[in-house]
Amino acid sequence: MNASIIDGKAFAAKVRNKVAHHVAVLKKEHGVIPGLAVVLVGEDPASEVYVRNKGRQTKEVGMRSFEYKLPADVSEADLFALIEKLNSDPKVHGILCQFPVPGHLSEEKIVAQIDPAKDVDGLHILNAGRLASGQAAMAPCTPLGCLMMLRDFHGSLSGLTAVVVGRSNLVGKPMAQLLLRDSCTVTIAHSRTKDIEALCRSADIVVAAVGRPEMITGEWIKPGATVIDVGINRIPAPERGEGKMRLVGDVEFSSASIVAGAISPVPGGVGPMTIACLLANTLTACARVNNLPDPEGLTA
Ligand code: NDP
Repeated sequence: MNASIIDGKAFAAKVRNKVAHHVAVLKKEHGVIPGLAVVLVGEDPASEVYVRNKGRQTKEVGMRSFEYKLPADVSEADLFALIEKLNSDPKVHGILCQFPVPGHLSEEKIVAQIDPAKDVDGLHILNAGRLASGQAAMAPCTPLGCLMMLRDFHGSLSGLTAVVVGRSNLVGKPMAQLLLRDSCTVTIAHSRTKDIEALCRSADIVVAAVGRPEMITGEWIKPGATVIDVGINRIPAPERGEGKMRLVGDVEFSSASIVAGAISPVPGGVGPMTIACLLANTLTACARVNNLPDPEGLTA
């Protein structure tokens, strides 16, 4: 293996430390405590784990954590009434509704109910628009985490070519906007793109956000390029025993790490950065509502 490993776990710990420092300063100098409210609908076990982790890490950095568990059959009206209450609660600076939600609820409508200033997931259409037009926005946490790792590794991204594979509103599109904001020359690839392999091979940076296990191999990577693997895929791992599974990314690590200059692994790459950036966004939301400058190095 030749590539440097971009260690998301260690980097996320640094981001959390920075957030904790800013939170302490906010408390001491301005008497303000950032607060994050997480709303969980139903009892999806994976979502319960995420929400628990978010709550724990929120408290660890000194913020207030508010958790709301609603039954799977909650009506849209009751859910929206809770969001409205959180929108007007001055102790709450960030609101996140854990997705997926049960089928009778619309994720799009839920996001639209959240005050854009408290939309720490960065999914509100106003934040997407602000991001696209170069204004101060809340950027979605996962691509923001990727951007921070790339900035940390490269210093300036200006003039580099980047291919983002995937065009979802959650990852691919905001990732491309963030890279453009940092003056990369960006191409977005998706399921209809012709010859993605050649496109990727031309890029200084490849961000893979596809959801297809190990789709991108070393042959797709330009020697020395930087590879950020957003994908989280569970595949069977018979070598670990019957019925066992293991996590892999959208990039085949074994072949890509021989060619790339730097690569983020799965697990331990982008994953840990997502909650760290959620905390960073909550801090930013709190600073903005109090007319204070954005915390340095923690925003797009
Ligand atoms: P989506 O399913 O919403 O989007 C996948 C994108 O990949 C689509 O734009 C799709 O194209 C494109 N795509 C699918 N198949 C191909 C293909 N064969 N060739 C090229 N492009 C293809 O997924 P998300 O963006 O939400 O997530 C992507 C991955 O990132 C998943 O593995 C997910 O688990 C992971 N993830 C990880 C997070 C983390 O914290 N680390 C957070 C969020 C996601 P088209 O639009 O044409 O259909």
